[in-house]
Amino acid sequence: MNNIPPVDLTRQHEIISQEVESQVIEILRSGRYIGGKAVTDFEENFAGYIGTKYAIGCNSGTDSLYMALRALDVGEGDEVITTSFTFIATSEVIVRVGAKPVFVDLDANGFNLDLQQITAAITDRTKAIIVVHLFGQPVNMSDLIAIAQKHNLYVIEDCAQATGAQWQGKKVGSIGDVGCFSFFPTKNLGGCGDGGAVTTNNDAIASKVKLLREHGLVRETGAKVTYRHDLTGLNSRLDSIQATILDIKLRYLDTWNEQRRVAANNYQKLLENITDITLPQEVPGGVSVWNQYTIRVQDRNQDSIIIRDLLRSKLQQEGVISMVYYPLPLHLQPVYQDLGYRVGMLLMTEKASREVLSLPMFPGITCEEQQQVAYSLKDCFMNL
Ligand SMILES: *Cc1c(COP(=O)(O)O)cnc(C)c1O
Repeated sequence: MNNIPPVDLTRQHEIISQEVESQVIEILRSGRYIGGKAVTDFEENFAGYIGTKYAIGCNSGTDSLYMALRALDVGEGDEVITTSFTFIATSEVIVRVGAKPVFVDLDANGFNLDLQQITAAITDRTKAIIVVHLFGQPVNMSDLIAIAQKHNLYVIEDCAQATGAQWQGKKVGSIGDVGCFSFFPTKNLGGCGDGGAVTTNNDAIASKVKLLREHGLVRETGAKVTYRHDLTGLNSRLDSIQATILDIKLRYLDTWNEQRRVAANNYQKLLENITDITLPQEVPGGVSVWNQYTIRVQDRNQDSIIIRDLLRSKLQQEGVISMVYYPLPLHLQPVYQDLGYRVGMLLMTEKASREVLSLPMFPGITCEEQQQVAYSLKDCFMNL
């Protein structure tokens, strides 16, 4: 029996290999490897897909978040409210611009921030909120925007795991002030290397991000290099090869997201009678793109971490590779010791990190593989 991996990107590539390989060869032969038409075409198509005036390609999702904060002038002395239950890039960029991350707990139901606790965490130094559409599931943006508007805060959407997800008919990344995307290979729209994008409808933010991504360099019309630098920026360009691959994959994104949805519905049916786990639910008003299918192993007497980890190793013995995103919440990371958080301060976040287990999920996963996952899971529970 073959192992069932958490993600298998070769199945995506098989479908588009001819298109991708011929386009890449064309770029190799063109001698033009950075910028150019491949990048501007992709940016235009991506902005059209998300529904924003601008999409600005860059080097990674991390850089897109960093540049979003810089473009909003978030820096020294400012506080940014965010979640502790995410990949570290989300808070890393807050520290990198010189601001302070303020972690707020999740609500009792899922992986969304508790709105009351957001309100309670707002001070006169708070400048922005970074929300994360975690695992492909959109945050309730209506409630969030209402809080942000009331307190005059910027909203940055970390859409790294949610390209194509929707909240009340709008794509994530088009609702807050700025949207930040990652094209890391395992994301819903993934390149064959690193990449990212910033989306916005705001002219000033867009111009500033364009400056930042290329050393603060001012380009005149016709893209002539002036060697005049208006800002301290970074080198965060999107390669032409990545852009051309992403442009091809963008045309398949809805189909692949639909395949994830079908797979999620399949898991729902296959797993619904296992009483010891909670299955992920799509929030009303939102359309998830199922970057992860994350079950929760119920936390009785705080022993679920033991059961969860045991389950994970047993699954592995049966050839089913599951993942834990994220085993240690950000507020308890060694790097943030100085921020003063301790165990017990964000109870729902800590509970989530003990309970979560992400099952194999990717476009092209077969029904047989999903049946095998379900069978192994049931088998493991019986023999726990
Ligand atoms: C992947 C990810 C990022 C970072 O994206 P990179 O392209 O790897 O820099 C940021 N936030 C979240 C939630 C992510 O999952």
